[in-house]
Amino acid sequence: MFTLSKVSLDRLKGVHPKLIEIAQSALQISTYDFGIAWMGGLRTEEDQRKLMKTGASRTMKSKHMKQSDGYGHAFDVLPYLNNTPTVNASSDIYSSIVVSVAKCAQALNVKIKWGGCWACINTCRNVQDVKTLMESYNTLCMKNGKKPFVDMPHFELMP
Ligand SMILES: [Zn+2]
Repeated sequence: MFTLSKVSLDRLKGVHPKLIEIAQSALQISTYDFGIAWMGGLRTEEDQRKLMKTGASRTMKSKHMKQSDGYGHAFDVLPYLNNTPTVNASSDIYSSIVVSVAKCAQALNVKIKWGGCWACINTCRNVQDVKTLMESYNTLCMKNGKKPFVDMPHFELMP
């Protein structure tokens, strides 16, 4: 069983308590180890501006910034493969993490949106469910002539 490191817990400071609970409980049932990415918790406006400049983010309305309840409403995971932080993990690995997050979100009755498909993942019970959501997102983007913005490490609270 994996647990979040002190660094990861520090990175979650200021993030909504329900999201912290979900990240922690998802990691406990996850097949793959993961932590919280740098800038993967609460961000200031300044942080967000910097990430926009590098292309790491595309919005100044990020859920990582403080929301009206005073908390950040998003976190980014960082998979550890063979104890090595691996941002570019395969979609299989991310999908497996999504299933763990979905189970915990369901148990806590909190709706979570995932950046791999920008849709609610709560009903995902296996990796195939996650891939179906990703395919639907891609199809929708193509239909609307939009380039998909796939952000697999990203999870956010739904209103
Ligand atoms: Zn994010």
